[in-house]
Amino acid sequence: MGFEKREILLILGALFLMIGLLPFIAPVYSVIIAVAIYFGIRIFVKKRKQQIQKSVGEGVCAVCGARIVQSKCPNCDGTEGT
Ligand SMILES: [Zn+2]
Repeated sequence: MGFEKREILLILGALFLMIGLLPFIAPVYSVIIAVAIYFGIRIFVKKRKQQIQKSVGEGVCAVCGARIVQSKCPNCDGTEGT
């Protein structure tokens, strides 16, 4: 299932924006703006997800629960293994 609830909200948001812009600019431009915003947010969310996965992938410290940075805990640096 690649179709998330958030994506439906995003499509609806872009659609409403498009409709909202219709009285002010040409329909073609409102469609272009809505599509651009939709894909812009999608790319942004995807990049952020990848960043989160990357940081989560390093794991957390078993002692204090802090995020592991470069396979070392920022709080108990050097005391790993317990
Ligand atoms: Zn720690």
